[in-house]
Amino acid sequence: MKIFPKTLLIVVSIAVIPLLIALLIAYSIAEKTLTEHILRELEAIAHIQEHRVEDGILRLKERLDLVRSRVPALVAIERFYETGEKAQQDIAISALAGAKAAIDEIKIISILSMNGRVVASTDSALHDKDFSKEEFFVSGSHGYYLDSFAFSNTGEVVMNLACPVEYQGRRLGVLVIESSPDAITALTRDYTGLGKTGEALLARKNKDGNVLYITPLRFDRDAALKRTVPWGKAAKPIVQALLKQESVLEDELDYRGEHVFAATRHIKETDWGLVVKMDRAEVFNPLEQMRYLFISLVVVTAILVVLVAFLVSGKVVKPIVQLSSVAGKISEGDLLLRAEVTSGDEIGELQQYFNKMTDDLTAANAFLDQKVKDRTAELFEVNRSLILEVQERMEAERKLLHDEARLKVLLDIAQFRSKDIQEMLDFTLHEVIRLSRSRIGYIYFYDEQKQEFTLNSWSKDVMTQCLVMEKKTCYELGKTGIWGEAVRQRKPIMLNDFPASHSLKKGYPEGHVPLLKYLTVPVFREDRIVAVVAVANKETDYTEDDVKELTIIMDAVWQIVERQEAERELARYATALERSNKELEQFAYVASHDLQEPLRKIASFTELLSSRYRGKLLDEKADTFMEFIVDGARRMQRLINDLLTFSRVMTQGREFTKTDCNLVLSKVLQDLDLSIRENNAAISCGTLPVVIADQTQMAQLFQNLIGNAIKYHGEDQPRVEISAELKGQDWQFSITDNGIGIAQEFYDRIFVLFQRLHAKTEYTGTGIGLAVCKKIVERHRGKIWVESAPGRGSTFFFTIPASMSSERQT
Ligand code: ADP
Repeated sequence: MKIFPKTLLIVVSIAVIPLLIALLIAYSIAEKTLTEHILRELEAIAHIQEHRVEDGILRLKERLDLVRSRVPALVAIERFYETGEKAQQDIAISALAGAKAAIDEIKIISILSMNGRVVASTDSALHDKDFSKEEFFVSGSHGYYLDSFAFSNTGEVVMNLACPVEYQGRRLGVLVIESSPDAITALTRDYTGLGKTGEALLARKNKDGNVLYITPLRFDRDAALKRTVPWGKAAKPIVQALLKQESVLEDELDYRGEHVFAATRHIKETDWGLVVKMDRAEVFNPLEQMRYLFISLVVVTAILVVLVAFLVSGKVVKPIVQLSSVAGKISEGDLLLRAEVTSGDEIGELQQYFNKMTDDLTAANAFLDQKVKDRTAELFEVNRSLILEVQERMEAERKLLHDEARLKVLLDIAQFRSKDIQEMLDFTLHEVIRLSRSRIGYIYFYDEQKQEFTLNSWSKDVMTQCLVMEKKTCYELGKTGIWGEAVRQRKPIMLNDFPASHSLKKGYPEGHVPLLKYLTVPVFREDRIVAVVAVANKETDYTEDDVKELTIIMDAVWQIVERQEAERELARYATALERSNKELEQFAYVASHDLQEPLRKIASFTELLSSRYRGKLLDEKADTFMEFIVDGARRMQRLINDLLTFSRVMTQGREFTKTDCNLVLSKVLQDLDLSIRENNAAISCGTLPVVIADQTQMAQLFQNLIGNAIKYHGEDQPRVEISAELKGQDWQFSITDNGIGIAQEFYDRIFVLFQRLHAKTEYTGTGIGLAVCKKIVERHRGKIWVESAPGRGSTFFFTIPASMSSERQT
């Protein structure tokens, strides 16, 4: 809903609704008050009327009493009864006439005899008339009878009042007075306090049990004694009154069917019902007017309020509506619009603030626009540099990929296992062509001395496409065309427009694969050119990158080629060496084994000769010579034994088993016991590990090293220490002595077979012991070395891989 109708509605609601409520409350209070008032009023009137009726009845009674106390008439009647004299009757009649004249309302006075016949009457027409059947006679014989409304001869409503007549204790008959009913009915004509519709009415039940109105009604003047209503259909107020219920009724229908307020009374004396009533319409007439007044008030107020609201909200709302429309247009983007400042009040202020806000908004917008422009420019710049960066990265990536590809090629070449160089270079050429995106290529060996090219490798395409009849594989440098330039100029040659004329071109033979782009690079080893490689017919131009790439790859390939050559050579040597070693070992074994026997014979027979024939057969010299022979043979035996031991290290080595070095050592020390005691050597050893080894050879190893440590002692008492420690993957054993020591230059020599540092006269020995040790250690995949200084003792170290050991035993 728009603000204007909303404001209007609110203002009207605020103004009219409370008024409406106030008026409704006032109306209901008025209605209630009026109802209470009228009911009180009717009650009061009913009370008065009741008294008046009762008063009227009293007066009727008094009237009867007044007449029946007229003694002359009574006397005349008595006498008439006694005498039957007409004169007496006349006296009585005139006496009655006198009574009648005294009271206006009395119309006829009659005295009826005990049998109901008129004895004397002011109306001569009634003379001797028989009323014995009439109710007023029957009831009047017993007491006052007042309830006898009837029509007179003239058709008027009259009352027949009756009561018994006595004189001096004698019953004379019944006095009947036909009287005007005014004493009763007059009161019903009194409408004081009852407005235009109010009235008091009397009714009684007739013989049939129906309701009979006995007084004229305000709206039915002829109703008296004529209007009968069946009991069931009678108006409720009169029925209530006849039922002796005295109360007030707020809203009941009367005999006309109108809504009335009523008060009911019951007249005991005559058993009449009295109703005092008044139309609700009349009672509420002022209220009705008040209602119209109220409604008019509300309507007028509403109209006024609407008018005022219209005016006020027009003043207040119009600028707001205008402001809203301006705001709407501004929100659509028209920032130049401004609200019109219509007043100096808060709305005016609001319009001013709004305009200020719009100004600020325009300024902020402009600022933002500028910001956005600046930022866009910045972003554009960033974007541009990002694109550049991306391009650079892509280029770098491409290069990286290319480098990777090149690396892969190098790796592939390095890992390429081939029987000969030819195969290797074929593979290289293939990869080089692929990497440089060329179509064809070749590799030529070059011999600098002969100045000759020998074809090594042609790309397959060239072979299939080349239709030269005699394909040469050997070229002299002097006869080559442009492709020899790489050698002549000792630098790469690049031609990206091969078909163009070139001074260096000699043309190629008929049928040669047509060349479009061409690149050839010399391969240098140190300063020598050893080959040339060429690629051709790349789709795009060759660049320095291609040159670099080709150079790098070929350089690397050549290194690999050379290394592989060297490896092959080495392998050849190694195989030859192994074979000769084996042969040597075999020979040493066989020789030493086979030599033992004859040597033993020489030694034993020479000893025999010496012992049998010493001083007998030969001279002293011959004895000395024989001693020499025996000594030589003994030494030779030792030598051969040692040699045999050496050769057995490899040929007769045992399986590796779990070997507790502590046990091995204690066995060795037992064997060396004599030597230890002779030399007074002090041996100390730490805990040694359990290793997987050849137990016998381990014993041999310890024996040789400890034996040497004791043998090569100095002046001091020999002290030998044996220990082991875990170093990385290996157990490192050490045998330290305080002996004569070894100069550093002999560290390696002493492990070579037959190498000794002393004359046999100084220290006995064959120079095989350490060579045996080396062989044993190497068989166990360990190392042996010495650290020493002359005069300061030596330490011999050897390692046994720990993977060959089990847990250390303590
Ligand atoms: P041999 O002891 O039979 O001469 P070896 O092969 O055992 O032969 O030793 C080679 C040489 O190494 C010895 O001649 C000796 O000069 C030197 N050598 C070995 N062990 C020691 C040691 N513990 N102290 C000093 N020199 C040693």
